[in-house]
Amino acid sequence: MSEIKTKQLRELVEAAFPELDTVIGWEAGYDALHTTPVFIKDAKDIGKLVWNPLCVRNLSGYLVKTPPVQSADENKKIGIFVKGCDSRSIVALIQEKFITRDKLYIFGVPCQGTIDWRRVMKAAPLKNIQSVKMDEKQLVVEDADGTHSFALEDVLARKCLRCAYPNPLMYDVLVGEPVAPRVTVKNAYKDVQELENRSLEERLAFWTKELDRCIRCYACRNACPLCVCQDRCIAETREPKWLSQYMHTSEKFLFHFIHSMHLAGRCTECGECERVCPMGIPVTLMKEELNKITRELLNYEAGVDPNAVPPLLTFSPNETGI
Ligand code: SF4
Ligand code: SF4
Ligand code: SF4
Repeated sequence: MSEIKTKQLRELVEAAFPELDTVIGWEAGYDALHTTPVFIKDAKDIGKLVWNPLCVRNLSGYLVKTPPVQSADENKKIGIFVKGCDSRSIVALIQEKFITRDKLYIFGVPCQGTIDWRRVMKAAPLKNIQSVKMDEKQLVVEDADGTHSFALEDVLARKCLRCAYPNPLMYDVLVGEPVAPRVTVKNAYKDVQELENRSLEERLAFWTKELDRCIRCYACRNACPLCVCQDRCIAETREPKWLSQYMHTSEKFLFHFIHSMHLAGRCTECGECERVCPMGIPVTLMKEELNKITRELLNYEAGVDPNAVPPLLTFSPNETGI
């Protein structure tokens, strides 16, 4: 299945390549269990592109993070591969006018889930990985100790198990047929609901235990396509000084409160912040909570409608729903 899609996507890139400056996609990584982003500038490299459930990285951040990938030739576009969740980041960036649609050629990939290697390693501590095979139901890894099979559901990323948008919402060409979503938008917040069902004391204990592990490396911020303050981030400014260098839990809470509030009604739940956290902290969960509240109060969901105005970019003295 993945091989067929990889062949198809290379053909689609080849057909569009004359109007493209660069194509941002995925290629094989340092071992068979990983892929890595690739920037194709020369048609002879199109054969490097791959698609499979190991293509975890949301590539849209490359369009806005410093330095952004831009076309040197104004008549050419940037080609980019997006899964359903990634396409919402593109829509949100267009909504906030960080990028324009006419400069992009979007290759949309319907997606049935991506693999969380941490869940794989937790299930079996693999070493010297030799080969990886996948079908719609399982992942089979061969390593120095032999063959290990994992049910896909047991090793998919948490965001994939609650994914309501597996099909790209914006694209120029679709690679393969649309797939059925796992859940509806309405029941995509069961993890948040589970947390909300606990008492305030239990929730405080949960987040204290989680955030106490935070080493303030800011990988979560750096990986987020919508975290765009860059050098002006409150984590680094000294005028005004919001955060000290102390590693107290209170400082960690403050960083995450501000970080999450800046993403309220903007976060598209792409899960990049959670994926890159070296301490395994479920940081997307905080943004999910704020998104759930935004949906309930303002009937708004980020990254779905390119013409909608995000609530924090608008203001009404007679706000309804609050
Ligand atoms: S969240 Fe949805 S679109 Fe994104 S990787 Fe998971 S299944 Fe695919
Ligand atoms: S990536 Fe993890 S450890 Fe690093 S700042 Fe974010 S939450 Fe903290
Ligand atoms: S906060 Fe996390 S889940 Fe939300 S858009 Fe940023 S990286 Fe994606």
